[in-house]
Amino acid sequence: MKYEGNIYRPPSEAHSLLIQVTVSCSHNRCTFCNAYKGVKFRIKSREEILEDIIEAGQYSLHHPIKKIFLCDGDALIIPQKRLVEILEQIREHIRGVERVGVFGNVKSILRKSVDELKALKELGLGIVYLGVETGNDDLLQATHKGTTYEKTVEAGRRIKAAGINLSAMILLGIGGVEKSVPYALDTARILTDIDPDYVGALTLMVYPGTPLYDEYKAGRFVLPDTFDFLGELGVIFSNSNFTNCFFTSNHASNYLPIRARMPQDKEMTLAMIQRVIREADKKKLRPEYLRAF
Ligand code: SF4
Repeated sequence: MKYEGNIYRPPSEAHSLLIQVTVSCSHNRCTFCNAYKGVKFRIKSREEILEDIIEAGQYSLHHPIKKIFLCDGDALIIPQKRLVEILEQIREHIRGVERVGVFGNVKSILRKSVDELKALKELGLGIVYLGVETGNDDLLQATHKGTTYEKTVEAGRRIKAAGINLSAMILLGIGGVEKSVPYALDTARILTDIDPDYVGALTLMVYPGTPLYDEYKAGRFVLPDTFDFLGELGVIFSNSNFTNCFFTSNHASNYLPIRARMPQDKEMTLAMIQRVIREADKKKLRPEYLRAF
């Protein structure tokens, strides 16, 4: 398999085969994100992708591959015809595949109709990871996320309408100290409106080279402290409602890993988060040196 640049995948794709179908992210403008900074976006050529699929196919003859994740930042941006072809080639060459996953941003999802998404589902696309980050429109604008509350809800619902599992990722701390409360309340509201199958919470880390880092160094953006991040998680937990959702914070950026089946685990998990905040014992949290984005 050939990989170019930095490769990212969600924690739940740790055991998936990673096939890189694009390099970088077509948006690449979010002020907090250093994932693909300076890397020009491109969709890999037919030949490059097919070569990797055939190589994986050879391996799968002896070791069936259950899960595949298509990298990089937003594989869903690939035009429908080409994406159909890639999924068909995976089906043709690789044995045992039960699920293909991708990152998809709001723009890439809204470029596809429900019927087109259903066609991708038929070919094995089983989960889309959508970077919601927050439901607060001011913050979506300030971080150059390139979307709004309304469009994000529409994108999330479109994935669900196609029968594809939806994992919504949120970013604790993106409002800084100043917008911590609106961040948490609006994020709870948008999660309730989307009602995803999974929520993955990440905790903001400010990296040099990003516009947010410059704001931070200039003192215009103040990071919440460790327990304020957990306070945001608690507010989101208590104010959001789900039909059937698995809510996790097991990404390496988080201080407190949680795994909760919602709504049934809501009260118990909320009580645990509140207890950790009350006790304010950093020894019970992931140490700073083990955090990574
Ligand atoms: S957060 Fe996602 S959409 Fe924004 S630049 Fe990074 S990879 Fe692209």
